[in-house]
Amino acid sequence: MSEISFLDSVNRNFDRAASFTKIPKGILEMIKACNAVYEIQFPVRIGSEVHVIKAFRAQHSHHRLPTKGGIRYSKMVNKDEVEALAALMTYKCAIVDVPFGGAKGGVAINPWQYTEEQLEKITRRYTTELIRKNFIGPGIDVPAPDYGTGSREMAWILDTYVTFKGGEIDAAGCVTGKPVSQNGISGRTEATGRGVFYGLRELCETPDAMAKVGLTTGLKNKKVVIQGLGNVGQHTGLIMQKEGGIKVIGVAEYEGSIYKEDGIDIESLIEFRKSNNNSILGFPGSTTLSDRMAALELECDILIPAALENQITIDNAHKLKCKIIGEAANGPITAESEEILASKGILVVPDMYLNAGGVTVSYFEWLKNLSHMRFGRMEKRFDSNAYQRLVATVEDLSGKKISDTERAVLTHGADEVDLVRSGLEETMVNSFQQIWKVYSTRPEVQTLRNAAFIVALEKISNDYANLGIFP
Ligand code: NAD
Repeated sequence: MSEISFLDSVNRNFDRAASFTKIPKGILEMIKACNAVYEIQFPVRIGSEVHVIKAFRAQHSHHRLPTKGGIRYSKMVNKDEVEALAALMTYKCAIVDVPFGGAKGGVAINPWQYTEEQLEKITRRYTTELIRKNFIGPGIDVPAPDYGTGSREMAWILDTYVTFKGGEIDAAGCVTGKPVSQNGISGRTEATGRGVFYGLRELCETPDAMAKVGLTTGLKNKKVVIQGLGNVGQHTGLIMQKEGGIKVIGVAEYEGSIYKEDGIDIESLIEFRKSNNNSILGFPGSTTLSDRMAALELECDILIPAALENQITIDNAHKLKCKIIGEAANGPITAESEEILASKGILVVPDMYLNAGGVTVSYFEWLKNLSHMRFGRMEKRFDSNAYQRLVATVEDLSGKKISDTERAVLTHGADEVDLVRSGLEETMVNSFQQIWKVYSTRPEVQTLRNAAFIVALEKISNDYANLGIFP
């Protein structure tokens, strides 16, 4: 059965949530509209052939600048998809109080079909096109990694930008998700997954939420299934397992899916996949399921789609046996299938909140680039010295000495990664409370997605009012 497009799905969710607000129609239309899309086709010589490559950059909202959003490399990239993803970025930034408008880029290639050298050529050419049209810059539009891209591509983008914009003092802030050695920030690679962990931890520690789905409070020992073991899926699994004590009973990847009742160690699975021709199938102790979609139908507490959009549709929604869905990917649930999930009592934690860890830490990286200084550089030593003096005073007064290990913990001054994690945790906890407040005090709102949208829409409409554009 065919369903509406990803963009229509995002807009339908928008309209549904907007109906619960008192925001004037004109402002809602302004917020919903995509402000600018640049669509290009450029030639790149690949071996003895010329490949004509289609690419996009959508800037959904200029109400705050720069605009911000990842760049996706996937054969399926199209204008509708980048517009949908850019819109989600606008709402996401508002929810987590990151002062950017939303954007998204896409290059319609299968990145696994090209060599590293060819990908570099394509990335540099795409960046050049963005520079030519003024679609990139630290105060204009700041890309980041997304599906099929990572820190390597971001380094190429920065290098190309700097080649053209030599003396620009803030040039390093033209892109985020860069390698730490090239003006990146510690903790960016894991940020989206870590944010998913903080978000789901908050939900599971909320007694009313757990009572609703019939689960005990706390993440520990929750049975989890993860779809997609890329950047987001990997770090979500690793961190939730190590710091949250969850049990991953199923994993789906492109090549198929596996099940293991007593838990899959994600670190071992990642190593196994590398040594097994990029396949999770045959992981020791696991059962191979019929196909890659089968893992989604496993009985579990939390299902985490971390691959792509439109994975849960009207075709499979009624077969799901989870209690909670944590949308680590963007748009994994179609608007139509969400009604089926609601009727089954499945609680959905929406993408525009749950995967906002990436853009939050990207914001920290951008701030670091503008300040030209690593976080913690000024205060780390000062704090550590102060803690040392405090411990020494307590030791003198009590006449007792603490162990070296205890001393190291107590007198540690924050490194950049400590500050990044703490800023991210604060953001995810705070935003969860804002969404939960709307959800729990306004029964008509019904879903966490509607509540998240309402939080976003009210902040963005206030921005417009502050700009003096609307009364
Ligand atoms: P990635 O390219 O690193 O990983 C995606 C993984 O999904 C790959 O391993 C791929 O093989 C797998 N996959 C693809 N189709 C699949 C299928 N049908 N079944 C099972 N596995 C499949 O991408 P990513 O950066 O991890 O992004 C994943 C999702 O998270 C996307 O929706 C993206 O928009 C979203 N997201 C990413 C970030 C980020 O910081 N990277 C931030 C926010 C949201």
